Amino acid sequence: MSDFHPETVALITGAASGIGLAIANRLLSDGITNLSLLDLPSPSLSALPEALTKNFPAARILALPTDVSQERDISSAISLTVAEFHRIDLSVHAAGIGGHGMVMDETSAMEKMVAVNLMGVWLCESMVVKQMLLQEERSLTTGLPYKTRGSIVNIGSLCGLSAARPAGATYVMTKHGVVGMTKADARDYGPKGIRINCICPGWIKTGMTAGLDTSGFTDQIISRVPLARWGASEEVAYLASFLLSDKASFITGSSYTVDGGLSVTV
Ligand code: NAP
Repeated sequence: MSDFHPETVALITGAASGIGLAIANRLLSDGITNLSLLDLPSPSLSALPEALTKNFPAARILALPTDVSQERDISSAISLTVAEFHRIDLSVHAAGIGGHGMVMDETSAMEKMVAVNLMGVWLCESMVVKQMLLQEERSLTTGLPYKTRGSIVNIGSLCGLSAARPAGATYVMTKHGVVGMTKADARDYGPKGIRINCICPGWIKTGMTAGLDTSGFTDQIISRVPLARWGASEEVAYLASFLLSDKASFITGSSYTVDGGLSVTV
């Protein structure tokens, strides 16, 4: 039996690759059939509905070209999702960009990272919460005598909990912001039945980190990970699915590392 209500609708940003795509696949495997997938316009995004319905024929998939730094794009994606599925129960905010940036660098790169990694999550969370507040609460699938209005997972980073890498001030700042936003919003919207949590991945093999997969990086950085390897996107997706599900009904405002133990070594 699925952990999710049969009519559940999930929205995922950054869904065309890496962690976002792994979460889309995990939610489909875990029984969700209505998915709205947002990412920058690309052939991979356009190909998603056909690619995913091959393995999950019952799935209804919207692929919506969306720049999360643009309020108008997000507003339009939310409207199209609600027009198609009539509600949003779960939302995952995984869109993000990496890169270096120190406090004395040009501010333009910092502004771009803030716009995508921090304001992008802010705008999505704001509009998704507004939509969830329009929806009736429903009973938990676990049978416990409580109600839920929805669940949100933000994808932060180990860099949201510490300055986990050198020359990373801009990224570290945006990810600390995501962790803080998660706490504040969980506090504000918990009483309305909305749970909001954050996942803080360590080094996960995705497009974002592909350029780092060298023997030097492995010797210096990956060798410090207690589990002594890169993480896989799927390993982040298992936790996301749990936090989104009613099995996590008493969990909100928390940030969880998925890092092979790296955070305990510093
Ligand atoms: P990824 O494979 O590059 O996925 C990120 C996705 O977000 C890409 O599809 C990217 O599109 C999309 N994106 C970028 N800018 C966007 C925008 N303005 N609007 C909408 N979508 C946008 O990298 P990932 O590793 O899965 O990253 C997912 C999240 O995990 C990010 O928030 C990242 O900071 C976080 N994270 C990753 C790691 C890691 O080790 N991989 C560790 C900690 C945290 P394009 O490919 O077209 O740019």
